[in-house]
Amino acid sequence: MKDKKTGTICVQGGWQPKNGEPRQVPVFQSTTFKYDDSDQMARLFDLEQSGYFYTRLANPTNDAVATKIAQLEGGVAAMLTSSGQAASFFAVFNLCEAGDHIISANTIYGGTYNLFGVTLKKMGIECTFIDPDKDDAEIEAAFRPNTKCVFGETISNPGCNVFDIERFANIAHRHGVPLIVDNTFATPVNCRPIEWGADIVTHSTTKYMDGHGTAVGGCIVDSGNFDWMAHADKFPGLCTPDESYHGLTYATAFGKLAFITKATAQLMRDLGSIQSPQNAFLLNMGLESLHVRMQRHCANAQQVAEFLHSDPRVGWINYAGLPDNKYYPLAQKYLPNGTCGVIAFGLKGSREEAIRFMDSLKLVSIVTHVADAKTCVLHPASHTHRQLSDQQLREAGIAPDLIRLSVGLEDISDILADLRQALDAAL
Ligand SMILES: *Cc1c(COP(=O)(O)O)cnc(C)c1O
Repeated sequence: MKDKKTGTICVQGGWQPKNGEPRQVPVFQSTTFKYDDSDQMARLFDLEQSGYFYTRLANPTNDAVATKIAQLEGGVAAMLTSSGQAASFFAVFNLCEAGDHIISANTIYGGTYNLFGVTLKKMGIECTFIDPDKDDAEIEAAFRPNTKCVFGETISNPGCNVFDIERFANIAHRHGVPLIVDNTFATPVNCRPIEWGADIVTHSTTKYMDGHGTAVGGCIVDSGNFDWMAHADKFPGLCTPDESYHGLTYATAFGKLAFITKATAQLMRDLGSIQSPQNAFLLNMGLESLHVRMQRHCANAQQVAEFLHSDPRVGWINYAGLPDNKYYPLAQKYLPNGTCGVIAFGLKGSREEAIRFMDSLKLVSIVTHVADAKTCVLHPASHTHRQLSDQQLREAGIAPDLIRLSVGLEDISDILADLRQALDAAL
């Protein structure tokens, strides 16, 4: 599929049936796989031969779908995880251990902010959150000798800021560490961070990739580009023998596949956050129309953004598809075909007007979700980010009045009519 266009990979990538095999990727709903002799099984356990033996480590349905996502992102390998949270955790924990340090944009998903700032800290891994709009010198000042990676989101959830991927890749590489980019909102249809220097890409597949709000899931894609052995002192987990795997050294034994092989053989083995094959099947159904849906999400969101932008009751709006938006130049560079369907905005007036606006919506629903076919809305300060203080909200670039509107695939005239009547009801 290497020479094929994105839309073709969405439909056909990852699963090429042979003569007489099922056309659709089957759900291999089996925990285990059968072998004729014990030697063969032993070779699988030693990673000397590739093959399936237990679904916690690998499953053919998951592999087909992971391969499709790797092809879409232009990576060498990918693994599915049970959720986007598991993907972010595995991507970082595959590089770090207690005593290490990471740098992350402060404008990231609330769950990831909590994972990095609270839970990783309990595990002995410290995170410095930086404002990604600051200049290079200020960001470079955050690096320490024990820094192991840099993390950011292509389009941040919920703020909708655009991350300057190429600039951050250069900064990370100057310090000998990889850049991890969460590409959930953009999807590989609108941006492929690896082409801009990102080393590892993560996804909450729960969002546009699934696209219908059916299955929670995640994915990690490795570009295969980062030279682990050139920075062997920083990455002992990849560059020195793994005693839990008979002294095997991932970087030398697996080369470009080292990162995903370690994440599978070690982290998935020990932490067990596999995506169920049934969910991978549903994810694949979503992926088959991702390229078509993203176009419509972006077209609808552009019209909604223009409508909100011109309404005097709207105090501010952040949508990088608007020419006067601060992130428009970055969006033109990284997301020339459209950004995504999510818009951040605030109403004039207080928090009460925002709540009344949301409660007055009829077609648009209030749900703890984003980026699927059905238009939905959420007030992060009262919902997803409740656990953050006002100070932390500001640090994470989230205004207390921010409304996150996820524009779906309904007819645009019905979406606009619902927003208009709710604005009339609110103020
Ligand atoms: C939702 C989301 C996550 C977390 O994913 P889950 O599938 O909910 O665990 C991570 N990053 C971004 C950008 C998200 O939108």
